[in-house]
Formats: sequence, C-alpha cells, structure tokens
Amino acid sequence: MKINNHRVEIEETCKPEYIEAIKQYWALENNEFINKSTDLAKAFDLTAYAFSAIVKKESKFCLQIECDSCHNIETVQVKSQTNFATVKKDSYYSRTNKFNCSKCKALIQQQKLEVIEKQKQYLLEKQYSAIKNKNWLVLSPFELKVLRCIIKNEGISNLNYHFKNTSIKVLWSAIYTLRDLCLIVLHSNEDSNYVNRVTFLTELKTTLPEVEAVVKNEPKAKLNNVTQELKLRLTKNKAPKNGDSPVYSGVLNFPNDVLIEKGTQYTFGIWKREFDNLYFTLIPTDNIYQAPRQQAISSQPKHLRDAIQDFFDSSEFDF
Ligand SMILES: [Zn+2]
Repeated sequence: MKINNHRVEIEETCKPEYIEAIKQYWALENNEFINKSTDLAKAFDLTAYAFSAIVKKESKFCLQIECDSCHNIETVQVKSQTNFATVKKDSYYSRTNKFNCSKCKALIQQQKLEVIEKQKQYLLEKQYSAIKNKNWLVLSPFELKVLRCIIKNEGISNLNYHFKNTSIKVLWSAIYTLRDLCLIVLHSNEDSNYVNRVTFLTELKTTLPEVEAVVKNEPKAKLNNVTQELKLRLTKNKAPKNGDSPVYSGVLNFPNDVLIEKGTQYTFGIWKREFDNLYFTLIPTDNIYQAPRQQAISSQPKHLRDAIQDFFDSSEFDF
C-alpha cells in the first residue's frame, strides 16, 4: 500500500495531557503503527479500551492512499488502528497483489459478479442438457443411490449417515461423478475447496421416479439368460491420484452368479461409450458361432472371425 501523505487531526475539546499520547498512537512507520494502545494507556492508568475511546472521540487519522491499479489518490479517514487494518484488508486484492481504490474495487466486484452470473447460466444449461440427455443412464447403482439420497435430503449433509459403511473416498468419488455429469452442482467457498452446498434442478427431482425405473430396467452389469455371458460398464476414473491409480474404476453388484469356466474359449469386446466410459463383454466363443442368428443370416457356415464380427455388429450391442 502506497501512502502519499498522512496527518493526525486532534479535536479542540481534547485535554492537553492526552495530545502527545494520541500523536504516538497514530505514529506510522512502513505502513504499520509502532505504538499500541495497551502501552500508551498505562501512563494514564487507563485500560486500553478506555484509552482507545478517548482516541476515537478526540482524533482522526487522515491518509492519502495511491491506488496500485489506476494511481488515483484517495483520501481516507480512520478513527482507530483496527479501522486502518480493515481499510488495508478491504482494499487488498490477493489475485493481483494490489491495493485498489474504491472505484477499482467496485469494478473488480462488478467483474466478479458478471463471471458468477455467466458461470451460473453455463451450469444451468449444462444441467438442463444433462436431464434431456438422461445422463443418469451411465450411473452405477451405487452412484444412483447417492444421487437419490442427495435429492431426497436436499444436499449432502446426511450422506455420511446414510452411507456409514461406505468409505468417504468412494462416496466422494460418486459425488464428483454426479457433478461431472452435471446432475448436481457443488458450491464451495471462494478461497477453499470445502463444499458447503449442493444444488440440483427441481426438474431432476420430478424426473426421479423415471430415473429409478430406467435404471432398474437397464442394470449396468447384467447377465444374459445364458449365465456365461458377462456385460459390464467400465467407468472412467475421473480423478486418478497418480500413475498407479486405475484408469477405470467403480463398484457394482451382479444380480446372478457368473460362470467362467476353465478350458473354454471366450471372446471379448470393448466399446467406447460416452464420458470416456467403456463397455466390456465376455462371451463363450461357441455361443457366438452357434447363435441362431448366424443360421438365419447365412445358410453356409461362416468363418469364425466373420461370425464374431457379425455378432458384435448386431443390434444386441446397442446399449
Ligand atoms: Zn483505482
């Protein structure tokens, strides 16, 4: 902070014995006051509070501060050292490391509000398109459960109670997935990552029964009637901690046992899906080759490689 000028103004009503002490109270060096009211009060057998009250009543400190941004000079009056500390704190902008005048401060505030408004609009659009695109379809049953809990409780405050047997890491991974899919918005304090509020569109709340129905009908991991066929969605790990973290991770429950037999040849396929997710299928090769559709497509037995290609090209994989 650049102080061009400063002076103490003492009222005529001030008792002469206080004048020198008041001047000392306002003695400024390198933008810091060098004397404390606690020490100055002792000479008068007063408490620091009582002495400060006299200073406040009988004097004021006038400063001319130069703005670091526009170099405009602003005159400021303070009635106490604490008052000056507040002025200093309020005019400091940590992002640019500058002390600003009230005009520049108002401008920064205005710009901040505009950014917030734009961000708000952006997030609203994203949330509406998340509902339109049914982004919840890629959720695992656990993530869906977390979403429903957030909607029901209007936030995340009760999550720890509802998921007390789940590790915090797993829980937050689900919350971040919901955020990345724009189903919820996490609000945090400006200067920290501490999430203090979670919001979502009321439209999502009204869509909830539909969410439930859709996911129940389309489980993420399912077995065909043939229990040797395995299909599952591999969800991308959005926040890998380091190079050793898995690229895809998640939790899932299988509705039935899966039978993987030794000595059986299997064919696997992996598809790219939205949000960088993958879809993985494992199926005994014999099931493909003997599939009735092969006989319907061609009366001639096909080469196995072609049969597999046809199988994977079939509408069975439109998930
Ligand atoms: Zn300025």
